[in-house]
Amino acid sequence: MPSLRPVAPGFVPPLDDADARLPDTPPKRELRERLAALGDELDELQAKLFASARRGLIVVLQARDAGGKDGVVRHVFGLFNPQGLAIRSFGVPTPVELSHDYLWRVHSAVGARGMITVFNRSHYEDVLVVRVHGLVPEAAWRARYDQINCFEAMLAANGYAIVKFFLHVSRAEQRERLEARLDDPAKNWKFRAGDLEERAKWDDYTKAYQDMLSRCSTEAAPWFVVPADSKPMRDLLIAETIRDTLDGMQLEYPPADPAVLQWKGKVT
Ligand code: AMP
Ligand code: MG
Repeated sequence: MPSLRPVAPGFVPPLDDADARLPDTPPKRELRERLAALGDELDELQAKLFASARRGLIVVLQARDAGGKDGVVRHVFGLFNPQGLAIRSFGVPTPVELSHDYLWRVHSAVGARGMITVFNRSHYEDVLVVRVHGLVPEAAWRARYDQINCFEAMLAANGYAIVKFFLHVSRAEQRERLEARLDDPAKNWKFRAGDLEERAKWDDYTKAYQDMLSRCSTEAAPWFVVPADSKPMRDLLIAETIRDTLDGMQLEYPPADPAVLQWKGKVT
């Protein structure tokens, strides 16, 4: 099965509807089993990250409405030890947040080294919804791509690995999921009328996503486009990419202090 490849810097992903699904998607049961089978490996990698506390991992999730961010938090991050997770969701900025620069709330939400921080939406909203709705002048949002690259490079230089996932759903899949939010009483609470206004701006968002992906996929903080029409495929691809990222960090448990080891065999 193919693994996710980072977006090459400068490359503009087409984001066609057809790209939202891989040609051969194995049955759901098989994909869920393969996801569960990653659990032990992820658990051990996370334990080393937490114990050594020298590096941190930041995972950014962006998607259109009903794109599956909450599902990824549940199915992928449900495999990790909650003690080492910081899950942060970013909604419409509060007055206090708006009175600061746009990165302030994001920087202060980054977990300590040793933690896995998951951003459910992120500073990228400031070049997405903010751009599409013209919430700041064009010159202001245009300047942000470079600012974001500098911010992420600073985090990377200070011990953080960063991976960013754009969950790519097709128009038809989003329609089905939004309809399900209206049909299913258990999902009604997730529906906002605003979701339809955003859907109507599909092409404007596509352009904004394309700029975000091509301008802000860097070696230190790559973007991955996840074919996300299939939920179990989406989850497996993301979990595998996170496994590979943690693996590449060459994490080890911290060496024991000899002063501690002298107590070996002397615990009464
Ligand atoms: P949800 O993720 O469904 O809880 O919705 C959060 C909402 O907050 C979405 O409509 C986002 O577009 C919006 N949002 C997040 N960040 C910003 C931002 N920086 N400026 C304006 N709206 C934002
Ligand atoms: Mg929503």
